[in-house]
Parts: sequence; structure tokens; C-alpha cells
Amino acid sequence: MALRNFIGGQWRDATGGGVDEVLDPATGEVVEEVASSDAADVDLAVTAAAEAFRTWGRTTPRERSEKLLALADAVEENLDELKQLEMRNVGKPVSIIEFEFDLTVDNLRFFAGAARTMQAQAAGEYLEDHTSMLRRDPLGVCAGIAPWNYPLNMATWKLGPALAAGNTFILKPSELTPLSALKLAELSQDIFGPGVFNVVTGQGETAGDALVRHPGIAMVSITGDVDTGKLIARNAADSLKRVHLELGGKAPVVVFDDADLEALVATLAEAGYYNSGQDCTAPCRVIAAPGIYDDLVGGLSDAVRDIVTGDPGDEATAVGPVVSKAQQERVAQMVSRAVDAGGRPSSAARCSSGPASSMPPTVVANPAQDAELVQREVFGPVVSVQRFSDEDQALEWANGVDYGLAASVWTSDVSRAMRMSSRLMFGTVWVNDHIPIVSELPHGGFKQSGYGKDMSIYAIEHYTELKHVMVKIQ
Ligand code: NAD
Repeated sequence: MALRNFIGGQWRDATGGGVDEVLDPATGEVVEEVASSDAADVDLAVTAAAEAFRTWGRTTPRERSEKLLALADAVEENLDELKQLEMRNVGKPVSIIEFEFDLTVDNLRFFAGAARTMQAQAAGEYLEDHTSMLRRDPLGVCAGIAPWNYPLNMATWKLGPALAAGNTFILKPSELTPLSALKLAELSQDIFGPGVFNVVTGQGETAGDALVRHPGIAMVSITGDVDTGKLIARNAADSLKRVHLELGGKAPVVVFDDADLEALVATLAEAGYYNSGQDCTAPCRVIAAPGIYDDLVGGLSDAVRDIVTGDPGDEATAVGPVVSKAQQERVAQMVSRAVDAGGRPSSAARCSSGPASSMPPTVVANPAQDAELVQREVFGPVVSVQRFSDEDQALEWANGVDYGLAASVWTSDVSRAMRMSSRLMFGTVWVNDHIPIVSELPHGGFKQSGYGKDMSIYAIEHYTELKHVMVKIQ
């Protein structure tokens, strides 16, 4: 029997009776079926969430905080099952899931704490005989639309600030990876009242689109592809709902001759291929100074050859399959076109013809700045390395893409590190590192990587409305 939607505290089949198959990318086998929802299911969820908002929207920060802490505890107590679900559904090696789940639990606890610290400017008399105060009020029903690369993380990045601020929430996970979201709903059912947190599964063009267009939803937060984000922003315009867009990335790694080569290679070999490179902040676009370029390409190619790939269930595996056969084909074709255009690959990046959607970790040296591999997000285990001539060119190339999510600078010159980090047009800039994130600090983009921040108190602000109350004093 197909897994059902979680709406208003109840498990419900899709009203139209449709189901979607959920596959294991390591075997190609169907592991579950889930409800394939449409506008009627979304309407039920909006009605339930709007009803729940009447009470949840009036809870105290302490009550919301305690319930989010309870959810964090429930996630922690069920980590083994959640890990298995994510491994079977996304192909994540068990060896890497620990970090992600630690962040999920920590995020929920962070937002539980942050719920109690929300504040606006102090009150005062800005007009004679009138006292003004500012409030941060919840928006109402918020929707979150999640991608497939970090299904549970992305769900809690949206659910945490939405509920902390006093909104009720409807989550639509990716059609490829809905299993951990449904487990999260199960864990939440004895914690929140009916309708506070709802999960509706289904395709983007049906269930997702219905959320985006529904007039009863105040805000939609999407993490996904740039083109999907643009479409959603256009479709949300008719109801003028708030849109929060966490979209793609193409993170540059700007390396100067005085960088610590050993530390750099170790970071690239791990972070560039983590989650099979399916990470919007992955250090996938290295731009290196002439004096270090050859050693870097050689060192990274050697390190990448040693990466253990294969069965996600094997503790030794560092890189599993990519999420689907379609993604495997897309990545292989992008590498092949880069090689045709003059890029030099470290390995023959051919995908296996077996049932697993695996893809060998690859370095492509020397692509041109206008090459597709440099300009477009690959979302696979592929890192490109370009050679720049001077600092101005490094900056021009680093900023010379449509994306602006994350970047790093590698140098032992503090002035250069500061100069570069102020000029790089990216939402996060690391110096001599690449990838660490923490719940307290914001994650989000410049340019076509979108707008609105995840994590941190800035995320909660986006899920609230600033209200001015002015009182006439008699
Ligand atoms: P995607 O855009 O294909 O899908 C994302 C979600 O949008 C899915 O749930 C999908 O069903 C839904 N969707 C698709 N079309 C829709 C429509 N017309 N209306 C409403 N919803 C719709 O993205 P993906 O392939 O699942 O995920 C990979 C992308 O996510 C990459 O581009 C990656 O960079 C991005 N990403 C960004 C961040 C970030 O924080 N910026 C984090 C993780 C992933």
C-alpha cells in the first residue's frame, strides 16, 4: 500500500487515488509508493493548516520552543531508521549521513531557542502623544518545497523557522525523495496539534504548483533549481505571496600561490565529492594561480583516484551513486561536452550501464571560462580547475557566473583574503576552508542563487511580518 499524506493530523490517500514510485538509486528498484497529490489534496492541507493557525499562531514562544525541542529529541531517537531511509532513497553512504543528521537536530534546537529571542526595535514616542511599537508577527500558512539532495535537512531548514515564528506549515518533499519527510511527520504527530505540520507528496508540476498558486498560503519557500525558482516566483505573483528562494550554486575556489596545498587538496577531495557532488555549495570550480596550478591538478587527481565509491551501505564507501539514472546521464554528458571543448579529465567519466546510477569522481583541468562546465551547475562528482593569470582575472572569473551562493579563497596573505572576500559576490565566503555550516549563521545567495536566508535568526525574520502599532495617549 502506498504511503499517505499527513494532513490535519491524519494519514490520507491522494484524493485522486494516484501514486508515485520511489526508487533506490543504488539498485534501481522500487522501494515504496507514495501519494501523488494534486490541487484537491493541497486544498485540504491549506484548510487544516489555516484552522491550526488560529491556535498555533497564538502560542507563546516558550510553547513553540518546547515542541520544537521535542521534535529534535524524536529525530535523535530515530536516527537509525532515518539514516536507512535516506540511504535507500537518496543513495547516501552511511559513512556521511552522521554529519547531516547532527545538523538537522541542531537546527531544530537552534530554532527552538531562537523562537524565544525574537525582537523588534524598542517602543518610543515618535509623534507627540503617540507611542509606537514594532511587532514581528507570523504570516499564517507557509509552504516549503524541498529538493532531493538533502531531504531531511532541507525540510527542517524550512519547518524550523516557520513554526518558531508561529506559522503553520505544509511541506512538499521532492518526488524522488519523500520518505524521510513522511517519517518526520510520523514523529511529529504526538507533538503538534493537528494541522500545524502537514506533508503532501507529489510532483512539482501538480502538488508543488498548487501550493505556489493557492491564495490561502502566505509564503512559499523553495530550495531547488534556478529555473524552478524563477517559475515559482512568476506563478506566486498572482497571489503576491512571499517567496523564499534557495537555488543553485557554482562555488568558486580561488587559490593563490601561497595557499596550503595539502589542506586544499584534502578539502577538495572530500567536499567536492561529498554527497556525490550534489551540493549547492560544493567547491566545484577551482580557479588557481599559475605557480600552484600543476601541483594542484596532479595532487587532486591522485586524491580523487583513491576515493572509495560503491554500495552506500558499506562503511568504507565515501561516494555513492547520484540520485537517478537521469541525473547520471546529465552529468556524464556535461563532462563529455567539456572534454570535447578542450577540458582534460582525470578519468574516463563514463557512467556504468548497471542498475546503480553511479558516476566516477572526476577532475576536469583547463576548461575555458565560458565553457558549460564552468558556467552551469553540474550537481555530480566533478570539479573543474582553471589557471588564472592575476588577481583581477581571478576575481572576474569567480564572479563571472549567474550564481552567487558560496565561494572560498585560499591564501596566507590576510590583506588579500580580506580584499577578495569583500569583492566576491557570494552569500558565504570561506577563507582557507570550504563547506562548514552552523545553525547560527545564514545560508543564502546573491544573484540567481536566490533570495531569503536559511538557518540563523535571519531565516526567522523572513517568516514574519513587521507590524507597527501606534497608540494615542490620552
Ligand atoms: P528541482 O528544482 O527540480 O525541484 C525542487 C523542488 O521543486 C521539488 O520538490 C520539485 O517537485 C519542486 N518543483 C518542481 N517544479 C515545480 C513547480 N513548477 N512548482 C512548484 N514546485 C516545483 O530541484 P532538485 O533537482 O530537486 O534539487 C537540486 C537543485 O536544488 C539544485 O539546483 C541545487 O543547487 C538546489 N539546492 C539549493 C540549495 C540552497 O541552499 N541554495 C540547497 C540544496 C539544493
